[in-house]
Amino acid sequence: MKVKRKIIEINDELCNGCGQCVPSCAEGAIQIIDGKARLVAEKYCDGLGACLGECPTGALKITERMADDFDAASVQEYLNHQESREAHQVKAGETRQPRQEASLACGCPSTHLESFGQSGSGPGDSHPACQCADTASGLSHWPVQIRLVPPSAPFLKEADLLVTADCAAVAYPDLHRDFLSGRAVLMGCPKFDQAEEYIRKFTAIFQTAKIKRITILMMEVPCCSGLSIIVERGLAAAGVTIPVERIRVSSRGEILDRKASAD
Ligand code: SF4
Ligand code: SF4
Repeated sequence: MKVKRKIIEINDELCNGCGQCVPSCAEGAIQIIDGKARLVAEKYCDGLGACLGECPTGALKITERMADDFDAASVQEYLNHQESREAHQVKAGETRQPRQEASLACGCPSTHLESFGQSGSGPGDSHPACQCADTASGLSHWPVQIRLVPPSAPFLKEADLLVTADCAAVAYPDLHRDFLSGRAVLMGCPKFDQAEEYIRKFTAIFQTAKIKRITILMMEVPCCSGLSIIVERGLAAAGVTIPVERIRVSSRGEILDRKASAD
């Protein structure tokens, strides 16, 4: 039933899709869809504006208009459904996902799991790393995209994990030397990729891989902080505590700041 009431309004022009508003809405009323924040259903928004302060671009405001009435029972049903779907997918991540993700019918090389060690690392060094000029590759496995790596990948086991935004990896010139050596790496874009899917993936990884330490490499732009939120939500959902260091780099490749989890 439509009533005149307060409800969230999202300015499409101002929204950069960073996703910071998503976790602040306890009702789950906002999701990032096609790179923009969207109200999933009018009846899920209570109009109290808990999300407002989280938006770095001022894209959110409370407006008064005719809308479906807030429905607490539907919100509860929706959240329960989300929760059981996530639990199911986490479970599937431990059992089915590795097979599905490790070999797609198309045979794309990106989906073949490989651990190839680093240059000079001994018997496991089946693919000697490229030694271009004076920079050796620090990459020790494949694939690297968050979506393609199953939680059970052997290279994640007890790993020192680097989670990097796509842009940050490209911007930082000494990525291999300073961040890849000795670490497993997962990369993605918090702005254009599916945040909820990544939260589920990290939840499953944190529950199964016994990760020792996490380094998050992000760009200075606000939307990139979504990567840190995704990791935090994965940790919270997995119920584990892992030391995290967050590093912000500029588009010119300088390290702007480093913050450890206790800071
Ligand atoms: S106003 Fe409240 S219920 Fe509506 S989207 Fe914002 S946080 Fe969620
Ligand atoms: S917090 Fe980010 S995703 Fe949410 S409305 Fe603001 S700019 Fe868009």
